[in-house]
Amino acid sequence: MDPVISKYEPVIGLEIHAQMKTKSKAFCKCSTEFHSSPNSNVCPVCLGYPGTLPVLNENLVDHIIRMGIALNCSIREVSIFARKNYFYPDLSKGYQITQFETPICTDGYLDITLKNKEVKRIGITRIHMEEDAGKSIHDFNDDESLVDFNRCGVPLIEIVSEPDIRSTEEAFLYLSKIRQTLVYLEINDGNMEEGSLRCDANISVRLKGEKEFGTRCEIKNLNSFKNVSDAIDAEIFRQIKLIESGGKVVFNTMTFNAKEKTTSATRSKEEAHDYRYFPEPDLVKVTVTEDWKQKIIESLPEFPDARCSRFMKEYSLPFSDSDEITQDKFFADYFEVAVSGLKSKDETSYRIVSNIVRAEVRRVLNEQKINIKEFNIPGKIISMIADSVSSGKVSVTASKEIFNILLKGNSEEEMISLFKKAESDLSQISDSSEIESVVIKILDENPKEVQRYKGGEKKLAGFFVGKIMQESHGKANPKIVNELLLKNLETE
Ligand code: ADP
Ligand code: MG
Ligand code: ZN
Repeated sequence: MDPVISKYEPVIGLEIHAQMKTKSKAFCKCSTEFHSSPNSNVCPVCLGYPGTLPVLNENLVDHIIRMGIALNCSIREVSIFARKNYFYPDLSKGYQITQFETPICTDGYLDITLKNKEVKRIGITRIHMEEDAGKSIHDFNDDESLVDFNRCGVPLIEIVSEPDIRSTEEAFLYLSKIRQTLVYLEINDGNMEEGSLRCDANISVRLKGEKEFGTRCEIKNLNSFKNVSDAIDAEIFRQIKLIESGGKVVFNTMTFNAKEKTTSATRSKEEAHDYRYFPEPDLVKVTVTEDWKQKIIESLPEFPDARCSRFMKEYSLPFSDSDEITQDKFFADYFEVAVSGLKSKDETSYRIVSNIVRAEVRRVLNEQKINIKEFNIPGKIISMIADSVSSGKVSVTASKEIFNILLKGNSEEEMISLFKKAESDLSQISDSSEIESVVIKILDENPKEVQRYKGGEKKLAGFFVGKIMQESHGKANPKIVNELLLKNLETE
């Protein structure tokens, strides 16, 4: 790292906005559907007509309490809503309903595991409920802007961290774990591209060893993991460069230009809004009873860390497998369906299922850019493939081919019949004399490699195994291949 840059330490706090997965909006019955045509999910309440009254969606409170408990927060017994007043064309009400002095969740934390395996605790200052504003569309054509009010009143929670984050890596890990927790709780879809998860990053820098924080700047509306990382890097660099050239950082609201990877100021402190917060008179206080809280605690899902440990114990998986599988709740659910359908429930079979889902299933998800819920092969078909490998009917190589054949199946019944046919077509050859004839053929065809092997290049065993498997169309039993290959190489 540049010695000038490494003199400094960044201090970062994130404010994350997460849209809550509720059917209707925060204070009216309009739908929250993202793909509806513009201005179709609106009513007098969310458009802010005079004389209308908001009614709180109880599911929003339920969702935020879930998140609060997951992030080890205190849940306030009585909290109120506030009006945040400002004018903007996409906010027809002229104010946004939010929580100000009494956020419902406070003083929590989230532990992240760094690359060096060290566990770092990031404080959560507060989580509060609010409503989203509409959307202005400026790039439709040159001489007019359009406004879509569908998003007005869509329920959000805002999660504010303490300034405990000290690097871009930590910010990335923190954001990933917040996203993962939201998705595990099934209260947010984790989709940054559609804007259901957005992040503001507050950044300052100080000389290493310094006690006081520097002045922060706030980058607004980062909408992808890449942009969050790139924007933080760019802003750290900008501030250090400014200080090194004798300048001083002043509080500014910044925007990130993803193309040029630079940040620039949009608003300074002098221009900052005075929101004139006051208690929202149209809504009653939110009261969370002990009973309600208890019911939520009992209904919480198993979280990724706990699930990862359980997978290691229950299925004898190494940490890396287990961690990879439990990152995504629905992927882990899929793994468990596959495992529960196994005929032979043993360590070897669990490992085979783990390998199939992490390699083959994951590859298809990436290729087709889909999530596991959209994947066409049901988990119990994976159990059948794994049983076939563990019982020695088909080789691992053949199982991959079977997997690819099943991808073309349209229904479970069709896949089962495709599976049966493929399993018998590709069933493993365990007949020693048949395999031995292939082994001898390959050794005869590759005399130079045989000489090199005998000269000490033992690595070439892999080369011969590859050729033999190819020759047998992946059907030769690899254990027998190895035995016979060694035997024939010794005696040649
Ligand atoms: P605002 O609501 O105006 O954005 P807050 O006090 O709520 O102000 O702070 C917002 C975020 O800024 C929090 O995540 C906090 O951790 C972070 N923050 C506060 N001071 C600093 C600082 N000096 N450097 C970096 N981040 C900071
Ligand atoms: Mg802020
Ligand atoms: Zn409405």
